[in-house]
Amino acid sequence: MGNVLVVLEQAQGQLRSASLPAISFGKKMAEAAGGKLMLAVIGSGVAKVAEEAAKFGAAEVLVVDDAKLQNYLAESYAPIVVHLTKEAQATVVGATATSVGKDLLPRVAALLDCAMVSDVTGVDGANKFRRPMMAGNVITHIETSTPTVVVTVRQTEFPPAAAGGAASTVKKVDAGNVDNCRAEFVSVASQKSERPDLTEAKVIVSGGRGMREGKNFEPLAALADLMGGAMGASRAACDAGMVPNDLQVGQTGKVVAPDLYFAVAISGAIQHLAGMKSSKVIVAINKDAEAPIFQVADYGLVTTWEKAIPELTAEVQKLKGK
Ligand SMILES: Cc1cc2nc3c(=O)[nH]c(=O)nc-3n(C[C@H](O)[C@H](O)[C@H](O)COP(=O)(O)OP(=O)(O)OC[C@H]3O[C@@H](n4cnc5c(N)ncnc54)[C@H](O)[C@@H]3O)c2cc1C
Repeated sequence: MGNVLVVLEQAQGQLRSASLPAISFGKKMAEAAGGKLMLAVIGSGVAKVAEEAAKFGAAEVLVVDDAKLQNYLAESYAPIVVHLTKEAQATVVGATATSVGKDLLPRVAALLDCAMVSDVTGVDGANKFRRPMMAGNVITHIETSTPTVVVTVRQTEFPPAAAGGAASTVKKVDAGNVDNCRAEFVSVASQKSERPDLTEAKVIVSGGRGMREGKNFEPLAALADLMGGAMGASRAACDAGMVPNDLQVGQTGKVVAPDLYFAVAISGAIQHLAGMKSSKVIVAINKDAEAPIFQVADYGLVTTWEKAIPELTAEVQKLKGK
């Protein structure tokens, strides 16, 4: 078998921590495939990111650094990943299943004309993977049959790789004309938040339809801020316009696994559980004792959020000395 190439993400000149589980996957995969782990860094002015990437014990860090790659576009990045796959002699190409990973890697698989396995949660061999289906109710065992395979991995199922060991060689690669795609970057509209990214937060406070309206999320936001956490929501709350869609946790939202997850006025539909049931500690607050969320909760409060959230916030304030 050949080598394993893991595509890393960076933002504002920093390696994204979301990529660290993909490095762990890459190490496991390289062992299974009997090849070397290679890391790919693509962007503009990414020398520092490459330096950072060199601390994770990979054989090589391949870097494509070009001013034209300032803004991520799947159309321009995908041919570069294909180029690097050949350069690395890789038979496995992986990345974390973030919005970028999910956008980029299927294009890479199409260009390489090879198998694509998405949202992988486990590795059973050089070409054998596990992934959830049907909102996590079924675990599928997949065996690929093409010489190369492209894989996205679920961030919550592989530990973040730790820096250490011998530094990797950093190699600048000339990927040729990086500007030959027919898509053009126009602008990015993003919401700036002081809170941690939902997929990287250690604490998440999520609200559901039972919050009734957007302004009722304010006490949840205050609790999240007190604990340095992020805000989340059920799809019903997002669809009702109470909070923005990017807060949605679940099968069609973000998959999260924080140390502590508060599900407030969320019933616990299977599609919501698919996105948060790997959380280390789950606290459910719901006025209905029969709500399915209590089946996965470590701590359950059968009460209204109107009563529980102010009391909980006051207790946390006391503990924090605020
Ligand atoms: C294909 C598909 C994909 C989906 N993807 C997702 C997804 O990614 N994420 C997701 O969340 N859902 C998803 N859904 C929707 C999902 O099936 C549920 O409809 C949704 O999760 C319900 O959200 P909820 O728990 O907030 O609302 P509800 O089910 O209406 O529950 C509201 C809860 O609030 C409680 N409550 C009401 N008032 C109070 C109060 N004052 N204090 C305390 N508790 C109170 C109620 O007892 C109830 O349990 C998907 C559905 C489909 C079909």
